[in-house]
Amino acid sequence: MTLLITLLVLCLPIVTLCYIGWCLISPWGTCRRCRPGGKNRTCRACSGTGMRSRIGWRLVTYVLRLHHDGTR
Ligand SMILES: [Zn+2]
Repeated sequence: MTLLITLLVLCLPIVTLCYIGWCLISPWGTCRRCRPGGKNRTCRACSGTGMRSRIGWRLVTYVLRLHHDGTR
């Protein structure tokens, strides 16, 4: 059990870093509400584009904006 927790604690920062890197490489993901399933012009989540910003990317832009506003 201790080994499992140690492995989990070791893996978590690596996974987080990989996810942030992935978000920086491709910040736009496909809309899960209307893709797959064809183009839906009235999709409110993506307004018909089929592209949505990832949650991680939104977090990055939020942190960057916070930093920018804080260091003026
Ligand atoms: Zn959509």
